[in-house]
Amino acid sequence: MSKRELDQLLRDCLHSEFSVDDLASATDDQMYRALALVVRRILSEKRKKFMAQTYGENGKQVYYLCMEFLMGRSLKTNLFNLGLNGVADEVLAQYGVKLTNLYELEPDAGLGNGGLGRLGACYLDGMATTSLPGMGYSILYEYGIFRQKIVDGWQQELVDNWLPGGQVWLKSHPEQAVEVRFGGEVHESWDGTYHHIEHKNYDSVLAIPYDMYVSGYDSNGVSQLRLWSAKAPGIDMAAFNQGDYTSALRQNSTAELISKVLYPNDNHVEGKILRLRQQYFLSCASVADIVQRHLAQYGFIENLPDKVAIQINDTHPTLAIPELMRILLDECGYSWEAAFSMVKRTFAYTNHTVMSEALEKWNVDIFRSTLPRIYEIVAEIDRRAREELMRRFEGDKGKVDYMAMIGDGQVRMANICAYVCHSVNGVSKLHSEIIKESVFHDYYLYKPAAFKNVTNGIAYRRWLLQSNPALTDLIESAIGDGFKYDAAELAKLAKYRDDDAFLEQLGAVKHRNKEIFADYVKRTTGEVLNVDSLFDVQVKRLHEYKRQHLNALNIAAQYLWLKDHPGADVVPKTYIFGAKAAPGYYMAKQIIRFICALGKVIDSDPAVRDKLKVLYLQDYSVTMSERLMPASEISEQISLAGTEASGTGNMKFMLNGAPTLGTLDGANIEIAAAAGKENFFQFGMLTEQVSELRRFGYLPNSFIADDEVAVAVLNFIEKGLDGKSFNEIVTNLETQDPYMVMADFRDYRRVQALVSETYRDSRKFNRMSLLNIAGSGVFSADRAVGEYARNIWHVKPIR
Ligand SMILES: *Cc1c(COP(=O)(O)O)cnc(C)c1O
Repeated sequence: MSKRELDQLLRDCLHSEFSVDDLASATDDQMYRALALVVRRILSEKRKKFMAQTYGENGKQVYYLCMEFLMGRSLKTNLFNLGLNGVADEVLAQYGVKLTNLYELEPDAGLGNGGLGRLGACYLDGMATTSLPGMGYSILYEYGIFRQKIVDGWQQELVDNWLPGGQVWLKSHPEQAVEVRFGGEVHESWDGTYHHIEHKNYDSVLAIPYDMYVSGYDSNGVSQLRLWSAKAPGIDMAAFNQGDYTSALRQNSTAELISKVLYPNDNHVEGKILRLRQQYFLSCASVADIVQRHLAQYGFIENLPDKVAIQINDTHPTLAIPELMRILLDECGYSWEAAFSMVKRTFAYTNHTVMSEALEKWNVDIFRSTLPRIYEIVAEIDRRAREELMRRFEGDKGKVDYMAMIGDGQVRMANICAYVCHSVNGVSKLHSEIIKESVFHDYYLYKPAAFKNVTNGIAYRRWLLQSNPALTDLIESAIGDGFKYDAAELAKLAKYRDDDAFLEQLGAVKHRNKEIFADYVKRTTGEVLNVDSLFDVQVKRLHEYKRQHLNALNIAAQYLWLKDHPGADVVPKTYIFGAKAAPGYYMAKQIIRFICALGKVIDSDPAVRDKLKVLYLQDYSVTMSERLMPASEISEQISLAGTEASGTGNMKFMLNGAPTLGTLDGANIEIAAAAGKENFFQFGMLTEQVSELRRFGYLPNSFIADDEVAVAVLNFIEKGLDGKSFNEIVTNLETQDPYMVMADFRDYRRVQALVSETYRDSRKFNRMSLLNIAGSGVFSADRAVGEYARNIWHVKPIR
């Protein structure tokens, strides 16, 4: 598109939507909205063409169901992927407007908690770029992930009212609304030929679709994200006319609650009825939409499994399975066997965790009264599955009870997925092995071929080309621009591993990026960072399994050491944290408070503050990560081995040249292999050692007692910091320590010291950085969606 064409579109839009005729008088906010609208319309047209091409080739398409999509901002990435950022910059410059200022006006679309939701967003980008016809389904939460404010170390949550600035990306389609039914009773009758199912006295909620688009990079592909908003179906006129105002209006408020707010828990279930209603709302509306689209194209449903692949991302949208059964049985009149065969061939499932607190189970009574027909279908899947599994496992009732969909008064979402889906995948090599040995061991024996691995990937252009222009230019000067299309080409950088001049340039780019980040921090918080210190970064959700407190204990140990060795020549360090805690997760909030108090103690101590600093960044988000990654020098990935399914933050750091300091957990193992293990700072127990220690009976005190530093650090904390007590953390570590922080503490200090020593040799450190970038290509979302397409979806690119 030429400058003139974009200029005209912008003018037309400002005129028709904002009644602005003189562009010089348009505000930045009007410019942002107009440009976003223009981009959205371009993408909508492009998507239409892409889908016409897909149907023209009789192509199969992918529907990706996920309760979360952590999209971040859209304007910059869409302009960039469309190749319009340069043109837009010039057009706006004519009116004295800076494009980068407009970017800052956009709120993050924070419709997710962390890694899970970001993965969905990265896959929409990957599918669009590789021309795979894909559509995401989720919920249009009026309030996304809360905004975090830290007041005197304590996290406070503020509502994320994102729609005023985010709505320009959404287009509603009320004519495609779907009715979703809750509660009531099911009546069955038999007319001699057919069973009739009648659902009575239910409450209706309307699901209104809102569409957003994601551009591929230099491709014909565009992904669509359809977000459902809940609306009351209108006033119950019968009740209203009888003067029963309360019950006439009751449905209104409860119905619209469904899409009001995202549940802010990461890797933890809460078991609330509203959450179950959200899950069915998403599942029911999406399945209805998929079936309607299919029928509009083909006119019949038999070929659904040949034309449609549905990916269930984590168990949250599991109810799409019984919902499709319901449509095929009750609305299309299929036999159970025929319907079940179609359903099995359509659905695939991705597991994201093996931690028991995150495995979804619903109380049977709540489930049955909320979703009576869906319950009947799940119970029938369970009855038939038990029969079949009893035959297969020769009457091993214990095993069958364990594998069943319903047991101990609960509906088990993961077992529904494992039994029904034709594919079950984990998200890193290690995690995919663990699920075969633990949670799904019996299902693995039952259907081994269904078990697969697809290691996660990231939209690498967002975190390299769009966020780190200096590094992008340096890479391009060395290996050309092929890496912009195919991340595997980053491997060509490895030939510069012994090129002193290049390594120095790499170090200079990092230093410049640290200055830019430090300026941003100064401007927004007033905090001053020493850009010659090592930037050691841990940003991710706050969770005990991720072990932010292990990092903090080491900082406390360094602090005590520096007090004892005032003249020591040390590598100065800046430890940067960013993490939101689930609002009801008390221990996580205490850990934030601990990190902040530690930072304050250090800041107020002139003897150490030039050598050590802790920065707690408030409100970590996608946009914050884009600012931070280019400036990071060490990537802290220190979860207890066997707990982090993959991680994707680890990949963003690697891509930006920060070596990992980590355990052999999740995708860290593949990161170490790709970078070379000499370019990875490994520490801690291995998964097998963790299991063994647990079997043996883990006693944290046995690790503390013979470690002087551990004793000193825990004593120091126990006395209180900044006038605050942290006894709960200390007691937890001494008595339970569920994620074995104390068992890994000594080895963590060893590797931290090794990092410091290595950093003194800047050539060596830059070489490690280079080889991390060179090895990071495999962690691209383009590669990951390609594997899903070939091995699971059986979908081909449309080019
Ligand atoms: C990438 C990302 C995550 C995932 O980080 P992990 O370290 O893999 O848990 C979480 N939140 C945001 C905002 C991200 O961009």
